Amino acid sequence: MSNRTGFLYDDKYQEHLTGNYHPEVPDRLPAVYKGIQEAGLLEQLTLVKAVPADLKWVETVHDPQYIKRLQEACNSGSNIFDSPDNQMCSATYEVSLLAVGGILEAARLVMEGELDNAFCAVRPPGHHAEVSQAMGFCYFNNIAIAARYIQQEWDIQRVGIVDFDVHHGNGTQHIFERDPTVFYYSIHQHPTFAYPGTGREFEKGKDAGHGYTKNSPMLPGQGDNEYKQTLQRDLVPAFDDFKPQVILVSSGFDGHIEDNMSDIKLTTEGFTWIIKLIVELAAEHAQGRLISVLEGGYSIRRLPELARNHVKILLDA
Ligand SMILES: [Zn+2]
Repeated sequence: MSNRTGFLYDDKYQEHLTGNYHPEVPDRLPAVYKGIQEAGLLEQLTLVKAVPADLKWVETVHDPQYIKRLQEACNSGSNIFDSPDNQMCSATYEVSLLAVGGILEAARLVMEGELDNAFCAVRPPGHHAEVSQAMGFCYFNNIAIAARYIQQEWDIQRVGIVDFDVHHGNGTQHIFERDPTVFYYSIHQHPTFAYPGTGREFEKGKDAGHGYTKNSPMLPGQGDNEYKQTLQRDLVPAFDDFKPQVILVSSGFDGHIEDNMSDIKLTTEGFTWIIKLIVELAAEHAQGRLISVLEGGYSIRRLPELARNHVKILLDA
């Protein structure tokens, strides 16, 4: 079978500008695209169209007041929102809506069986965004909105989220920590020099959601071997138990050894191994349904090969 893997990409995602001294730059996306194109993989992919998200889906996660506040900040020409990390421009609100909308479109195609899986190369990233607060380069929590959309549009009781961005997805964890229908698993650098500071092993969810959050903190200097052992020990049994019906992946490539954003030493092969493992879990539990969404990853030099290998695994799934 061919063209069963979706690829969400749109030049408009480069219109979210972050100023002159920011790592989350528009150039990240052409780097991703170039890696996939130069490997001759574009022809094998189904291009997913970026469309603005209906606000009703964004509101399944974010406070309407927050959404309005972001829109007004963009309209008024602010270049910082909520935190000094969140540099923005007048297009940020619309680009953020376009990121969410494209991901929901990819999710729809996967849930309706037109695609097996998809890789969504979007900006801005999402996993640090809280219900009412922008954080860590993130405005809308893309992956959380996708989880809610899938739950409400299809009869899905169990959504599994795997977050291998080198930073803990505080926003995603907080959004679902009381919810037993969404399992949030994160592997990230912690606690040394690690943004945002959450994601300790004892954070396992709250109330009815207790046991449906799992964190695997990794130490500076750790890399492929430690990641492999930890994912086998923590992620595999958790998902074997939970049996997610669809898997969403917060794919951050900032744990790469050449990425300046962390002290984690994953190699390109390490990332390939990680997505292969998640693809296997999706095949076993979720009829292969997997939607991967770009989070971090700031090495413009390494992003082409990281994206190419990532997509290759999805195509081979
Ligand atoms: Zn990150």
